[in-house]
Amino acid sequence: MTHKNITLTMIKPLAVQKGFIGPILAKVNEAGFRIVAMKQMKLTVDQAKDFYAIHKERPFYNDLVAFMTSGPIVAAILEKENAVEAYRELIGSTNPAQATDGTVRKLYGTSIEANAVHGSDSDDNAVIESAFFFSKLERF
Ligand code: GDP
Repeated sequence: MTHKNITLTMIKPLAVQKGFIGPILAKVNEAGFRIVAMKQMKLTVDQAKDFYAIHKERPFYNDLVAFMTSGPIVAAILEKENAVEAYRELIGSTNPAQATDGTVRKLYGTSIEANAVHGSDSDDNAVIESAFFFSKLERF
């Protein structure tokens, strides 16, 4: 089943460490997203491998898993019309150096790997990734 109104984000470890939770959530808020669910947590290696399983053949997979388990993240389900597309526009390109001025990754990203935030890439993945982090009881 496809829901066009939600996306799953993570504020990645370096952005959390640098104190960017507040500024990033302010951008999310200003862009008109509603926070359906949210939590701060530290992923285990197995959880990070599972979340990024789609990338397991990519050369950066092990580095990505190590980075994503290096400290706490903030995971959230965001709601807005066409949430996946709208959020990817707000966050900008994967590589912060190539992201448009004013986007979250341009403002708060450090490198192509430590690019401040995750955003689902399709409606189907938004549903799968939301279920990875949150039960029905944790959604409002
Ligand atoms: P996204 O959908 O924009 O997040 O990009 P991808 O799905 O292609 O990649 C997933 C994540 O892997 C990115 O957000 C980065 O954290 C990381 N990543 C992507 N490309 C590279 C790369 O070339 N090198 C490294 N080290 N990490 C990468």
